[in-house]
This record gives sequence, C-alpha cells and structure tokens, in this order.
Amino acid sequence: MRRKLAAGNWKMNGLSAQLAEVEALCAAHPTPGVDILIAPPATLITPMVVTASTHPLAVAGQDCHAAQNGAHTGDISAAMLKDAGASHVILGHSERREDHNESDDDVRAKARAALAAGLKVVICIGETLEEREAANTLDILAGQLAGSLPDVLTGENTVIAYEPIWAIGTGKVPTLGQIGEVHDFIRTKLETRYGEGVARSMRLLYGGSVKPSNASDIFAVSNVDGALVGGASLKAEDFSGIIKAL
Ligand code: 13P
Repeated sequence: MRRKLAAGNWKMNGLSAQLAEVEALCAAHPTPGVDILIAPPATLITPMVVTASTHPLAVAGQDCHAAQNGAHTGDISAAMLKDAGASHVILGHSERREDHNESDDDVRAKARAALAAGLKVVICIGETLEEREAANTLDILAGQLAGSLPDVLTGENTVIAYEPIWAIGTGKVPTLGQIGEVHDFIRTKLETRYGEGVARSMRLLYGGSVKPSNASDIFAVSNVDGALVGGASLKAEDFSGIIKAL
C-alpha cells in the first residue's frame, strides 16, 4: 500500500519568518497519517529541519547539480543538500527546465547524483498547453519519463510528479479524467520499464493549482498518491486543508 504524500514546493519564496508556517503546520498535524515534505529555498533547509526536529516532516531541496563538487558557482550538490538536512530533492521542475534550459538528460544525471548521495528524488514531468491541445500529452510524457528517469531506481527512493505546465499557478486544473488518464499511463510505463514491484510501490503526485477546495476530488482519482503543491503550501492553513483531504 502506497503511503500518501503531501509535498510543498516553496519555489523562490520564504525568509526566516516564513518558518512560523511550518511550526503551525506541525502543531496542526502532530502525528500525520500521510507523509509531509516541504522544499524551501536552500537558505531555509537547515532552519526548517531544526524547526521540525520533533516532527516527521521531511525537507527537500528544489534542485541539485549533477557533479559532486567543483567549479560551479551558485550551484548546490546533492551531498550539500543532504549535509544541510534534506532527505529529498525535486528535479526537473518545469521552471528549471524553462529558466535553466534543463533537458531530460540533465535531469537524469542529477537524479543519478542525488540517489548516489542518498537523497530521494521527486522527478517532475508535464506538458505545455500547446502539446495538450495538439493531443500530444502522452507522447511528451513518455519521452520525459524515458529520458529523465535513471535506469536504476526503486519505488521507495523515487516519486514522480505530474505537473501540466499550463496548470501551474494559473488556477486551471485538468479534468479528473485527464489526471486519471495520465497517472494510469505513468504507472503502466513504469511497469514496462522497471517491473511490477517498482511500478506499484512508486508514488505518483499531481501538481498544478491544487487547493484545499479541489484536493479531495483530485486525491480520489486512480493512481494519484498525493500532490506537489506550490502556492497553497506557503500558508499552514491552506496546506493543512490539502493534507486533511488526503
Ligand atoms: P501551484 O500549486 O502554485 O500551481 O504550483 C505547482 C507547482 O509547480 C509545484 O511544484
């Protein structure tokens, strides 16, 4: 049985004062029945780990470099994230793919590095509105899965997040049928490549304009094991509503 996962991606938001939201979230869910993960900006990883030290809340990085160390000004390695207290890293978010020209190959190399460093990975895939309207969604996602996932992974150390780019921060959400179609498709693709055991144990998250008001409907869709939440993860009250819906 896959344990549900509520993951928050703070993106480039949050100064120290924002940790009050994490305190409130931990207080609201002292013994959560689901896994809770938050990816703050790198500057808040250790402070967040300290803030949640008596709580099972896990902390993630939002990206890492594929190299272990070296002359890469401004970048952060998987080992550094781990050293700072993170247990996970989000990789291949569409904002990274777009703002930093990250390719599937880049994402796969980063995933290999992260897994080798002992981090768990949350690998993001998703289509543009143009690709959706041209009925290319499943082909695009198949290509991203084939290219972004390393050959060696497990259902325990890897999570896939389906985030249609047109649904991120827009208030637009695919129909439940569309979400179900994609999540079923991803599960099938995983089974073909990695076998039934890995495919069945890996969690598949939906991301893109998830809010307390639409979370229950989305979580009822087959093969949706949780959410990767942007804007609504910044306020304890909103994220708590989503956690309760799981
Ligand atoms: P929103 O929840 O703000 O749409 O962002 C989704 C996302 O990109 C999470 O990684």
